Amino acid sequence: MTTNYDVVITGAGTAGSMAAAALANKGLKVALLDRQPKEKIGVKICGDATSGEHFKRIQHITKVDPPKGDEVVQKVAGAWLYSPDREIKLELVEEGGTGIIIDRFKLGMRVLEDAVDFGAELFDEAMVKEPIITNDYVTGIKYRGKDKNIHEMNGKVIIDASGIIGVLRTKLNPEKTFMDLELAPKDICNCYREIRDVKPEIESPEFIRLIFDQDVAKGGYIWEFPRGPHSMNTGLGVMRNYQMNPHKQFDVFIEQSKALYEDSKLIHGGAWRVPLRRPQDNLIWNGFMLIGDSGTQVKPTDGGGIGISVNAAAMASTTIVPALENDNVSMEGLWDYNVQFMRSLAAINAPLAIMKDFIIPMPSSIINEIFHKEILGANDLLYGNASGNISSGFMVNLLRAWRGKRILGTLLKFRGILKQMDKARSLYENFPADPADYHPWRNEILNIYGE
Ligand SMILES: Cc1cc2nc3c(=O)[nH]c(=O)nc-3n(C[C@H](O)[C@H](O)[C@H](O)COP(=O)(O)OP(=O)(O)OC[C@H]3O[C@@H](n4cnc5c(N)ncnc54)[C@H](O)[C@@H]3O)c2cc1C
Repeated sequence: MTTNYDVVITGAGTAGSMAAAALANKGLKVALLDRQPKEKIGVKICGDATSGEHFKRIQHITKVDPPKGDEVVQKVAGAWLYSPDREIKLELVEEGGTGIIIDRFKLGMRVLEDAVDFGAELFDEAMVKEPIITNDYVTGIKYRGKDKNIHEMNGKVIIDASGIIGVLRTKLNPEKTFMDLELAPKDICNCYREIRDVKPEIESPEFIRLIFDQDVAKGGYIWEFPRGPHSMNTGLGVMRNYQMNPHKQFDVFIEQSKALYEDSKLIHGGAWRVPLRRPQDNLIWNGFMLIGDSGTQVKPTDGGGIGISVNAAAMASTTIVPALENDNVSMEGLWDYNVQFMRSLAAINAPLAIMKDFIIPMPSSIINEIFHKEILGANDLLYGNASGNISSGFMVNLLRAWRGKRILGTLLKFRGILKQMDKARSLYENFPADPADYHPWRNEILNIYGE
């Protein structure tokens, strides 16, 4: 039996639920499928750090309120960044900062309920298996339902919001879609995270903590995000190519941090993965779209993807509505989503993937030197991570490094990296408005990132 929808969304996580709300509130017939039972949708292994601004910016499109009430467990005033040897602590305070730690489950449930209230139909315990492709259009999906039978569902637009799994994306033809089917191990961060209630009172819970200890978290970092004075969201990520077990590495960290975690109570623990690379070079095909982690729409330097994915969901919805009105869901009809995303969020975040590839192989000794000599100061980091542009003040930093000399070679290489980042940013800001100009654009992107 088949059913017809305007839009079929695979995955009711951050991106999928927001897209469902944004589309259903425009009166479209939306199906939202998730492999989890309804009561577990919204449970996600995550640091849960975001900003209410990401949600406010799109509220006029999604009609979904930003995080509120007990969905916000802690307001964030800033971050403490620790050198690998823990001797240096950089304090980053963003004036008028809007950071928050959310209760991911409560917020996820509310967005999902909003989507359903707006008219989206939820199919939980629905394991999506593959896309249905007809004459080079994605026209539906096959899924295993609650009854354990395989069903087909048709839609004019099919969205893959299945997170890092990308269950539909990975089954498309890369030569037709220009999407990367698999992610390289160096672009996948394997994480382990726990929420623990702790006995001692956490000092300044309004500061999140990041520890760049490469002996414990190779290629990644350890985070501690307080959820009030007696609860911590803590975990670490290790890049997959280093073949470390993140749970075992996390146990090492907990052993080192007994002062806080002795006699703590484990509330939730688990492992998941985050894609750390530039977004997919193309987010659409005929009748098809990627949003969220399935499109690798994550900040490559810190793994933040909540804000990006809800904004991508809103952009996708503003493309789908006119495409359906014009009865044109071809690549040309859906192209505007690529343009919106690449020129804004990708232009900020994609260049950071170049920096990530440069930083990740650095040993703790070099990172210690950067902290000790203040080669990158708090302001450089804050501005750079937010804007994707850290060229400012580079020569000043070079002079600082000169006092240390030891890592001058690394810094000179970094200068080349900054140039490549500038080039990449400019390419994303000028993403072609006409699909006919896509291939020269992509070739330049492949050259830059290949180098
Ligand atoms: C350890 C960790 C820490 C993180 N910390 C932060 C942070 O502090 N701040 C931040 O902004 N971001 C963080 N992120 C990233 C953030 O969680 C994601 O970028 C964001 O949630 C992406 O949302 P999504 O909807 O694309 O994917 P998800 O939230 O993963 O949702 C995907 C949904 O698809 C469903 N699904 C998957 N396969 C199928 C299938 N075959 N059939 C049906 N349904 C399916 C899943 O059940 C899930 O509900 C973190 C990620 C990880 C792994």
